[in-house]
Amino acid sequence: MADNSPLDIPLMELQRQHCREVTGTGHDGLALYCGQPRSGRTSYCEQHRRINLMMVAEASRPKAKGRHEQAGRQHRPLPAEGIRSLQKVRGRK
Ligand SMILES: [Zn+2]
Repeated sequence: MADNSPLDIPLMELQRQHCREVTGTGHDGLALYCGQPRSGRTSYCEQHRRINLMMVAEASRPKAKGRHEQAGRQHRPLPAEGIRSLQKVRGRK
């Protein structure tokens, strides 16, 4: 296995250097985070930074007549999703 697979760090253990990509939900219902070392000044590891950059580029691309493209996009979480669930976790306390 590649050693850059998500570590599933719970919020309480998340530290500055950890990637902030939400990777799932723990058994306590709180978000789990990737936890790989962050890449440069971003909040994400190299892998998630690339994924998010690709999604931003895709989202900001002018919409051509690509209805079939939208169906595929729904499967991928947008970067904003992670921020939103982080706020949800904070607010619940
Ligand atoms: Zn990551």
